[in-house]
Amino acid sequence: MSEYEAIIGTKVANYIDAFKDTYQENDCDIYFIGNGESSVYLDLSCKLFLRFQKIDQKGILIEAKGLAQSCSKHNMPYIILHNIIERFKNTILCDLLQEDHPSSLAYHFLKQLNIASDTASKYYLSQKIKKFIDTNQRRIKTIDELIDSESIYFFEGHLLWLDKLAHAILDLNIDTLPELCPKACVLGKWLHADGKEIIVEEQRWQHLDMLHRHLHLIAKRVQISMRSTPIDYHYLLLLLSKADLVSLSIGIDLTLISNIEYIKCSSKDPLTGVLNRQLLDKIFKTQFELSKTLDTGFALIMADIDNFKQVNDYYGHIFGDIVLKEFANVMIDSTRKSDFIIRFGGEEFIIILPVTTLHESKEIAEKICSKFAMKSIDKDNESLRFTASFGVSYIHPEANESSSTLHMSELIDVVDQKLLLAKQLGKNRVVG
Ligand code: GH3
Ligand code: MG
Ligand code: MG
Repeated sequence: MSEYEAIIGTKVANYIDAFKDTYQENDCDIYFIGNGESSVYLDLSCKLFLRFQKIDQKGILIEAKGLAQSCSKHNMPYIILHNIIERFKNTILCDLLQEDHPSSLAYHFLKQLNIASDTASKYYLSQKIKKFIDTNQRRIKTIDELIDSESIYFFEGHLLWLDKLAHAILDLNIDTLPELCPKACVLGKWLHADGKEIIVEEQRWQHLDMLHRHLHLIAKRVQISMRSTPIDYHYLLLLLSKADLVSLSIGIDLTLISNIEYIKCSSKDPLTGVLNRQLLDKIFKTQFELSKTLDTGFALIMADIDNFKQVNDYYGHIFGDIVLKEFANVMIDSTRKSDFIIRFGGEEFIIILPVTTLHESKEIAEKICSKFAMKSIDKDNESLRFTASFGVSYIHPEANESSSTLHMSELIDVVDQKLLLAKQLGKNRVVG
């Protein structure tokens, strides 16, 4: 046995013992290392470290890959994998340097560890990118069936752009990077031409333009970091995750723009000016699929005017129509232009709120509820007030994998039950 093996071997054995103790005693670390997967990482890390005892170069690479593979499989953040190796490195190195061993010994150890760390990073990156490409492909496939507006078409264009970026990183090939200049890509060209006409609100346009330039800047950084040596795999991974987030924000913006366009051009209920019930199926299905693509849920509000039959009975049908119109106006004023307000039945309405949480949609329903209750409507010198009740529910993007039309009636039933409860609890309220 060489002197190196003897010294490193003892240090590694001691380290593994201490390492095991730390992870067995410290609950917080165990939780942090992967929610019940801790023993797997502990085991794999020990295997990796054990290979250092015998300077088994081939074995070190195999175990480093195994550890990276497991971390990626369990979605453990890269930083933890990095930490495991760094801690090991620092502890052994500190010991070696403190005890006045020849520096060649520390150098040798460091060199081996860097190879192991590099192998793990590279492997982890490739696994992550493959997963990323799969998710992105799923999004492209879903959105492909939904393209009925220019903005959704450009969203798909950028998902394809992202796919190219991910493949270029996977292959570490600068030549296959997508278009880097934000003004030269299809979305960029559209934004500065037709898009400017379609997106009438200046602030909305500027936000989208800013996000889009940001996305291209990330790709530029990818290019720079692919050119540098050694390649920083961790940084590349961070850039790709950032690009994914920005791309989803762009997708959300483009979806909302597409909704506004759709609402503008759709047929409306002549009395209230909101959308017709015939559109509900299509709108619901599109929002459902888009929410899966964007990884964000949407909300449903079901609203019903209280004691409306009495309103008609006391004040007549024509006045009833005025109340209905006023209620619709309150809903229009309290929601975004990209929200769908649909007349579901006589005095019953459904509001579909894309990219909205349950909390936010409950707040919107509360706003409509109190605004309507405070609104006075004049009838023969009399100031009258009316109320309405609301059910609110949130549709999670992963709520359904089967047919969304079938599912729609179930989801509407849920929100209808909440509306019913609001009525039973005394009306003029929101149940979410
Ligand atoms: P609740 O508080 O439980 O909702 O009681 P309600 O009286 O509002 O409910 P109900 O379903 O018994 O009555 C709804 C009424 O809405 C009956 C119908 O005449 C009236 N209605 C439906 N469509 C219209 C319309 O277009 N114009 C007018 N003026 N009334 C309508
Ligand atoms: Mg009613
Ligand atoms: Mg009703």
